[in-house]
Amino acid sequence: MTLDLTTVHKCCICDGDIEHHKTQEGETYWTQGHNAQPIKEGQCCDSCNNMIVLPQRFKNILALSKANG
Ligand SMILES: [Zn+2]
Repeated sequence: MTLDLTTVHKCCICDGDIEHHKTQEGETYWTQGHNAQPIKEGQCCDSCNNMIVLPQRFKNILALSKANG
């Protein structure tokens, strides 16, 4: 599998562009954002990941640990 490092993917949550991640030298090494689960199936941008996906995952983990114990 080859990574396509030129395409700008769309965030499945806000429908914005997913930022390309670059090395310090400015070389793109990752274009596909973050896994949007459990919010949505697909890829999301940095800000949705930080603002929506990670907090939701955290809540789910808390809920799980409460349910188990
Ligand atoms: Zn987004």
